[in-house]
Amino acid sequence: MLNNLNRQVFGIGETIFKEGDEGDCAYLIEDGVVEIFVTINGQEQRVNQIGKSELFGEVALIDQQPRTATARATQKVVLITIQRKTVAELLEKTDPIVRHLLLVILERYRNKRGTAKPQSIEQEQKRAELTAQHNAVRGEATQKLTMSNDIGRALTQDEFDLYYQPICEIATGQIAGYEALIRWRHPTQGLVSPLDFLWLAEQTGQIREIGLWTLERAARDWPTLRKSTHAKQPFVSVNMSPSQLTGERFVEEVKSVLALYNMPVTELKLELTETVIINKPEVALQLLTHLKEMGCSLAIDDFGTGHSSLDTLNRYPIGTMKVDRAFTSTMLTSTQSEKIVSSSIDLAHSLGMDVVAEGIETEEVRVRLLELKCNFGQGWLFGKPAELKNIAR
Ligand code: C2E
Ligand code: CA
Ligand code: CA
Repeated sequence: MLNNLNRQVFGIGETIFKEGDEGDCAYLIEDGVVEIFVTINGQEQRVNQIGKSELFGEVALIDQQPRTATARATQKVVLITIQRKTVAELLEKTDPIVRHLLLVILERYRNKRGTAKPQSIEQEQKRAELTAQHNAVRGEATQKLTMSNDIGRALTQDEFDLYYQPICEIATGQIAGYEALIRWRHPTQGLVSPLDFLWLAEQTGQIREIGLWTLERAARDWPTLRKSTHAKQPFVSVNMSPSQLTGERFVEEVKSVLALYNMPVTELKLELTETVIINKPEVALQLLTHLKEMGCSLAIDDFGTGHSSLDTLNRYPIGTMKVDRAFTSTMLTSTQSEKIVSSSIDLAHSLGMDVVAEGIETEEVRVRLLELKCNFGQGWLFGKPAELKNIAR
């Protein structure tokens, strides 16, 4: 939001700014009329007359060049000033693609208008700094555009794959179910981790299509994968991203995928993080309740890393708590981590939930978790995520 907007009043004929002035703000006309002049062949010529609600001097918001025109009040005007500094702070928080677009538009505008040459060493330096900043933004934007274009191709060219990692009973090591984890077989970069592209897919909205792909692939693979467990109620756990929380549309998508592959709804588990709930608490409650009523089970992922609250566990129909690897992996060396793990397990059990400890890499950790009465575990000790063909018998 633009805060600290100031008002300025100019009388008839008064100059608001003139060509060559340092421009540090733009103006919005709240009341009155302003005329704009430029110097052509040494002669000042009026090029525009603008009134209420119109903006002028806007190039200064991004450009750190001298003014290329003169603005004068033709009657009393009331102007709202928008400081460059404020806009720069806002732009900094903006997506690099949007920033890049703005900078390109500005560059074209400047070239078309023919900008006054920098007049001093200081201005030369400023200009060089600005160019360097533009290039950095351009680089970032190009990288994002290229990657999002690549993700689009990956979806159509079948470059994604789903790996499965076993979730086992801590006491016996028996496989209870699997978690589906996406991988990208990039044609030039090899196997790409989800952590390297899901953040961008989340920003571009491509995550919705990826989410649907994952769900479909998991349902399609399930009959084969299911055969490798002896569990009474085996399940496959699919990660859900915040953008998939689109209300009833998501419920319908789940229903139709399950119907297409004839998969029992009780064998599908959806993993969500608290961000999913925090962003849209009411939609989440409605949607998750609906999914639960259908027979789907729900797990809260990465427990302990977000703003975990008792309220979340209490209000939402979540059957499984997954304790984050950050705590499991350090529980033998940090008393604090061990306390977090043990109290999370107690909390989950007191609410009638199952607990999965993530990231179990050693037998020592498994034994300690068993002592703490954790019922399920996932980690390299039991098995790394693997391709279906390497799991299925
Ligand atoms: P997550 O849901 O917490 O998944 C567990 C991650 O921990 C996986 O990383 C898994 O390979 C890794 N892991 C499991 N056991 C161990 C262990 O013993 N030691 C260590 N060091 N790591 C272990 P991965 O596959 O790279 O996935 C990273 C994250 O990407 C996932 O974290 C999940 O948030 C997200 N993700 C993966 N697949 C999907 C997907 O299909 N959809 C969505 N929305 N997110 C996904
Ligand atoms: Ca997960
Ligand atoms: Ca997790």
